[in-house]
Amino acid sequence: MAFLTPDRSVLPGHALVIGGTSEAGGSGPAFDHVYPGTGEVTAQLRLADAGDVDRAVAAAQGAAPAWRAMPGDKRRDLMLRLAALTEENAAQMTSLLSIENGAIILAGPHMSGDAAQKFRYFGGWADKIEGRTISTWGGPAHDYVTYEPYGVVGIIVPWNGPLFAATMCLAPALAAGNCVVLKAPENAPFSLMKLVEIIGQAGFPPGVVNLVTGGPDVGAAMVAHPGIGKIEFIGSGGTARKILGSAAQSLKPVGLELGGKSAVLVFADANLQAAAKRGLSGAVSANGQGCVNGTRLLVERSIYEPYVQMLAAMAAHIKIGDPLAMDTIMGPVISEPALERIQGMVAGGIADGARLVCGGERLGADHASGFFLPITVLADVAPGSAIARNEVFGPVLVVTPFDSEEEAVSLANDSDYGLGAYVHTTSLARAHRVAGQMMAGQVQVNGSGEAMTACVPFGGMKHSGHGRLGGIEALREFQQVRNVWVNLQE
Ligand code: NAD
Repeated sequence: MAFLTPDRSVLPGHALVIGGTSEAGGSGPAFDHVYPGTGEVTAQLRLADAGDVDRAVAAAQGAAPAWRAMPGDKRRDLMLRLAALTEENAAQMTSLLSIENGAIILAGPHMSGDAAQKFRYFGGWADKIEGRTISTWGGPAHDYVTYEPYGVVGIIVPWNGPLFAATMCLAPALAAGNCVVLKAPENAPFSLMKLVEIIGQAGFPPGVVNLVTGGPDVGAAMVAHPGIGKIEFIGSGGTARKILGSAAQSLKPVGLELGGKSAVLVFADANLQAAAKRGLSGAVSANGQGCVNGTRLLVERSIYEPYVQMLAAMAAHIKIGDPLAMDTIMGPVISEPALERIQGMVAGGIADGARLVCGGERLGADHASGFFLPITVLADVAPGSAIARNEVFGPVLVVTPFDSEEEAVSLANDSDYGLGAYVHTTSLARAHRVAGQMMAGQVQVNGSGEAMTACVPFGGMKHSGHGRLGGIEALREFQQVRNVWVNLQE
């Protein structure tokens, strides 16, 4: 069956927005955007370069004093207006989200709704930014603390969920009174182009949010730029190392939201059907390319084989294919090189002794021009093997048995990463006992992603990063502390 054709007429006509003015393209190289569903080129973009970053930073610096001084209720109202406009534009946004990275069309309305909720939630903080007073030591004095914006914040996000990632940073950054230079990833730029257009329509002053579309060199120019006070980075650990290397020179603070290999612990007393469905979502959600997807399944031995077979049976019912079709549950991975890399990792896992339960082979026939790998389940995976330790970033689950709660906790924590952890049990005591031992930034009990809302802190431990996006913690990410001491004797 032929795939639906992406509607190119919905693509925004600008790759940059600087000082409120949309620009068709930047001064950097040309880039062919490829639609992962069919491998066809959807648009030729003209990317930004370091000079464009200079202009974007200058525009943000120009807007910063007035934005910072704007009363909180006015900032709140703008953010609430933006939330409403995001919802009003959900239909176009949904198409853009699918075209840019092959996300399934069914997920689009949820993504737009999520973005709107973030603007609402953090808009609600914009008029509640308060300081505190401190009773001082020594002589009579009045001492107080205020929470200040950085001025200009640089936001760098990956291609796997640009709208989700960008709004996670943008909403608290704006609420805290910062202006922003936002980099859209060149291989998935369209939803952010649209978002920044909507920001203008909502009435945000020109220069408060500036968009540059580009690749690593544009991100590097942002990190090195003296006019940017803080970088918020979402992406891989490898890139984070480069960014921290650069920030070592500029002494710029950097927030890091990085990758994961999140453990899913399934105890014998769990609701097995529900735990299998949620376990499978680690391969399905974001076409297997979600940072916090639970991809390392640890299953109590007494239910191990039935659970593995249940995963395979459920996987067979997941409709994989055309991202634009309404009945598709899982789409392609981002690119041909990504597909080859994932298949190489699966082959490595099998060579290390894992048992291939399902998947593993790229889809051919009418799927051959896109980048489709079915849900791939590897069982009997040795905890120390490369496939058990490294982030695959594709629809691949690894499954390992355990014999005791103690062993489950130890296996779950035996990872360089610490982003998410998922615990499946019907024992209330065990749920809290195990959750309390997880070295992960977010633990979900009998869940598989429901916690990811604007009001809760999200972020990693260990190599999964530091800092938190979501909740009051995210506001603090975009604020710096000023302490004022006043001598009351003069
Ligand atoms: P990546 O690190 O290759 O790229 C991320 C972004 O950084 C892109 O916009 C890229 O252009 C930019 N970049 C690359 N080199 C740079 C440099 N030297 N200086 C500044 N910017 C640079 O990651 P990716 O492949 O786009 O995304 C996948 C990774 O992101 C996975 O590891 C995934 O787990 C992680 N991720 C984490 C979260 C989270 O919230 N923790 C969310 C989504 C994705």
